[in-house]
Amino acid sequence: MEADRGGGTRLVLLGAPGVGKGTQAAEITRRIGLLHISTGDLLRAAIREGAPLGRQVAAIVERGELVPDALVGAVMEERLSRPDAADGFLLDGFPRTVAQADLLDGILAKRGQVLDRVIRIEVAEAEILDRLTGRRSCGQCGAVFHVRYNRPAVEGICDRCGGPLRQRSDDTGRVIAERLRAYRGQTAPLILRYQKAGLLLTVDGRGRPAEVFDRIAEVVPGLRG
Ligand code: AMP
Repeated sequence: MEADRGGGTRLVLLGAPGVGKGTQAAEITRRIGLLHISTGDLLRAAIREGAPLGRQVAAIVERGELVPDALVGAVMEERLSRPDAADGFLLDGFPRTVAQADLLDGILAKRGQVLDRVIRIEVAEAEILDRLTGRRSCGQCGAVFHVRYNRPAVEGICDRCGGPLRQRSDDTGRVIAERLRAYRGQTAPLILRYQKAGLLLTVDGRGRPAEVFDRIAEVVPGLRG
């Protein structure tokens, strides 16, 4: 029997750090109001607030390693059980390992739901390095800018909420290398998994954010709304 797909759309954004997942997620959310859930944002918020979870993961995130599946899994299980996630969501930065993908399948299966699409954004590593080192994020709302490719109207100030822009502490040399290593080793295998499941859409992530969004909108139904 086919799973009851329930209301809403359930999407995953997949790709290495710096390919533009957060930027595209914000745009997709702006267009169609889909709930954006970023595990990186959730973990950084827990760290900022000094929550118990934050104290457990701070050093791991600082090093650019992946937080243990059990911890991230618990965070996502709780987040996806909230009422606002019942009508669909866009996951950014999760799943990042095979175990996390299994967990997500399990959570959805319990609800009689399935994923609709996995959107993989692809960018060459040389460009990723350039993007991550120039990236600036809003300390207040998380909006993402770049010192050359996506500049705010006023330097150092978020266009969206007026908050201060800063460089993420993990957007620096050695930590970036570790994050890319984690991506290659632990996350990239998910590409084949979702391809085999017939869910994968691969989008060229080069160019301006609006160009990349147009490519996503070409392949994902309903995004032009
Ligand atoms: P991001 O903002 O997606 O680049 O995530 C920043 C950091 O948070 C990563 O380098 C990891 O340390 C941690 N993190 C975010 N999502 C996950 C996940 N799904 N599994 C494990 N660690 C994660």
